[in-house]
Amino acid sequence: MTEPVIDTSPKTWDEVKTTTCYMCACRCGIKVYLKDGTVKYIEGNRDHPVNKGVICGKGASGIKQHYSPARLSKPLMRVGERGAGEFREVEWEEALRTATLWLSEIRNKDPRKLAFFTGRDQSQGLTGWWATQFGTPNYAAHGGFCSVNMAAAGLYTFGGSFWEFGEPDWKHTKYFLLFGVAEDHASNPIKTGLGKLKARGAKFVSINPVKTGYSAIADEWVGLKPGTDGLFVGALIHELLGAQKIDGEYLQRYTNAPWLVIENPGGADDGLFLREASGTAQVWDSHTNSPMSAASSDASPKLMGRFVLPDGRKVVTSFTLIAERFLSNDYAPETVAERCAIPASTIRRIAAEIAEAAFEQQIELDIPWTDYTGRRHEKMIGRPVSMHAMRGISAHANGFQTCRILHILQIILGTIDVPGGFRYKPPFPKPIPPPIRPAGKLGQVRPNTPMPGPPLGFVVSPDDLLVDEDGKPLRIDKAYSWDAPLAAHGLMHMVINNAAKGDPYTIDLLFMYMANMSWNSAMNVPDTLKALTAKRGDGEYVIPRIIYSDAYDSEMVRYADLILPDTTYLERWDCISMLDRPISEADGPADSIRQPVVEAERDVRAFQSVLLDLGARLGLPGMTRPDGTARYPGGYPDYMVNHERAPGLGPLAGYRGKDGKAKGRGAPNPDQLKAYIDNGCHWFYELPDHMKYYRHVNWDYLDWSTFMGFMGKPEPIIHQLYCEPLQKFRLAAQGHGKILPPDGHARRISTYFDPVPFWYPPFEGNMVSDTEFPMHAITQRPMAMYHSWGSQNAWLRQILGRNWLYMNKDRAAKLGIAEGDWVTVTSHHGQIKSQVKLMSGVNADTVWTWNAIGKRSGTWGLSADAPEAKKGFLLNHLISDLLPEREGGYRFSNSDPVTGQAAWYDLKVRVEKAVDQSAESQPQFPVLKKLRGRK
Ligand code: SF4
Repeated sequence: MTEPVIDTSPKTWDEVKTTTCYMCACRCGIKVYLKDGTVKYIEGNRDHPVNKGVICGKGASGIKQHYSPARLSKPLMRVGERGAGEFREVEWEEALRTATLWLSEIRNKDPRKLAFFTGRDQSQGLTGWWATQFGTPNYAAHGGFCSVNMAAAGLYTFGGSFWEFGEPDWKHTKYFLLFGVAEDHASNPIKTGLGKLKARGAKFVSINPVKTGYSAIADEWVGLKPGTDGLFVGALIHELLGAQKIDGEYLQRYTNAPWLVIENPGGADDGLFLREASGTAQVWDSHTNSPMSAASSDASPKLMGRFVLPDGRKVVTSFTLIAERFLSNDYAPETVAERCAIPASTIRRIAAEIAEAAFEQQIELDIPWTDYTGRRHEKMIGRPVSMHAMRGISAHANGFQTCRILHILQIILGTIDVPGGFRYKPPFPKPIPPPIRPAGKLGQVRPNTPMPGPPLGFVVSPDDLLVDEDGKPLRIDKAYSWDAPLAAHGLMHMVINNAAKGDPYTIDLLFMYMANMSWNSAMNVPDTLKALTAKRGDGEYVIPRIIYSDAYDSEMVRYADLILPDTTYLERWDCISMLDRPISEADGPADSIRQPVVEAERDVRAFQSVLLDLGARLGLPGMTRPDGTARYPGGYPDYMVNHERAPGLGPLAGYRGKDGKAKGRGAPNPDQLKAYIDNGCHWFYELPDHMKYYRHVNWDYLDWSTFMGFMGKPEPIIHQLYCEPLQKFRLAAQGHGKILPPDGHARRISTYFDPVPFWYPPFEGNMVSDTEFPMHAITQRPMAMYHSWGSQNAWLRQILGRNWLYMNKDRAAKLGIAEGDWVTVTSHHGQIKSQVKLMSGVNADTVWTWNAIGKRSGTWGLSADAPEAKKGFLLNHLISDLLPEREGGYRFSNSDPVTGQAAWYDLKVRVEKAVDQSAESQPQFPVLKKLRGRK
């Protein structure tokens, strides 16, 4: 008798499609296994440049995101009061007609009355352009409450930054420092990078108040106090300068260290660079003992010193000012040790280890290259020390200057874009800062007219600010005003409360995408909810209309008037574009697409296609043809292929030209999307070896970068240790120039716009009593979740269904708090109740929790008594959107004074054992009703 054959591994799929993951911000390539049109399995794409086959728990769990019970399924129109959850389902035509009517009324009168803000979406190349075409300056994405300090500090200092802008040279680095919450923004790449370091025995130091995430495998954990990173890094610089362990040649050739700064206290030119008539900065030439153009290849510039010009003016090199600041006793290890909670001996040892790795373990690659002066170098010299940081050091009121200090550390070591150091990812480096100024000045916002430029950009002097004749902000979020002059990513966290107060003015329509602004993305949640539901005397809401698009039933959905349901990431086209921040690797440019791997069975539409449709209905010039028909009738995929921002430059850089062979620049190719799909939904071009390092000053790379449209002309990108744009603001604060700060702002501008970076205490900690609020409270990002939407994922919820308040066990013992106790956490702004877990790996003065796990009852498709709602909690309820101090009756936002970045991590609290030990977190908000129109 024949034995029955049992198939122990039956084939569970009949089709495999590639696309790009969206379960966090890394944008890994994935392969989606399908059977009968349903998703069965997701794995990493081995041929993808970002993850090379690696997939994390989040990415593999995308299947549960796609089939989430919280998905929206039909456009909805509010019929009850805001927040009540009363909606009627409408057809798309009605929804789009309504949105068009609301939007066109505004565009006909005053486009500024539209505030268009998006969250953690990946289509800002489109959304920013749409806002420009509409004509409103009131546009930004979530960067203002994430890591704009890191991005802006980098772009104003060395033309790049971390994560999407660059990465450590994992192959060669020998000493790696990871600062604060950072790993979530490059999850798989850092994971695999750390694997390489471990395999080679390179040292990994984690500087973070909490030993969690990747810190768990660090060779050394430095548990500093939140907000003191700049002091710690400043002390490292102090040590390196004192020991003369700096790369003098790199500083002389590739940075503004030798540029001359005018010293004329009180004068209108004080602190500006000495420039030739052409505008080129000057250095002090040691051969001729006189000033000479910094661009001259004959110059032998002095790095240090003060000099007198023939006309009697005094000048000093930039580097002298940097050295004087960091060699001062303010940054001595003994001075900073207690404040940072790091022994001086540890700071000294780490500085010595960094110096040893950088200068005793120098790397030489036998790759000849030519620098911008035409000088040929036979080798590429590398200093194998690298760093990575993101929100952990950014989300403080001292974040911009702290990030600048970190970048100065990299620059004095000569580790920017060298073997073993930090490496740019194309299209970076960019000119410092990128030559795009924000549009939205008086006269630039007019009815039925696009703005002359994009709403977001980089200011270089007060002349670029968006303020009126009285110095009042022209944007609803006060970006690019005296409140936050370098607000390169806007201040999304201020929009709702500003609009409700009419400060600086009221708006007619708030249009948001994928931004949970009534909950975990809001500071001061209770007041935000009040702002969303507040009414005027005539019964109209103070924010009269809210349109919101999302794929899921988030807390924000209940506060919108019109809901445009989005698809899941497996149901739509998308492009991770070179016009935004693509998926490039250090070895070359790369971009990618998403393709719909399954058809949406609900009545939903991809937001990007909806936006183009609305643009055509509104007659926005870029989205309509001269005959009035839609320019992109095929929606987003049509735009991805056929849109040209400049001749030959479109959203996707690969497979351009009629034959699909052009790279970067070329005519639209009708078969471009097929070419991407055939290549696993990505495109990557590996640069030749002689263009892989020193790209800020690499002649061949700068030429190629210009051809690709990454920069306007092939000029060197000289690192700016001394930041002249900041000094221009300080001069305005002293009364120089035409555009001056109004009363109450001058002191703040003078203090914080120092062109030589410095550390100052975060504002909140400095304004509240240390005795009353002795602890810092911060959040970390869990490995298992990235977006707030992770809590609707049936698999990921099993890993993390609620959050806890983690605290140091010795500190807890002193406070009489035991594992599992419920505690009250009180700030100057509010109080919450949460449950405690104890640990050793946390700075004793710090409590922390996972970000965005706490949910409001009734949302996200969860049951009303889900642990996320009943035991989970948010620290947001404790954080004020405004600073406690008033200056002349004016309250500044709880943000960095330079960029406006939300200072989430400055929170100070008091922790006490709760009288009420019942097992429920507080505050509990009224349960939201089940939403109609949800699958
Ligand atoms: S790291 Fe992020 S993008 Fe990559 S697989 Fe995981 S969730 Fe997806």
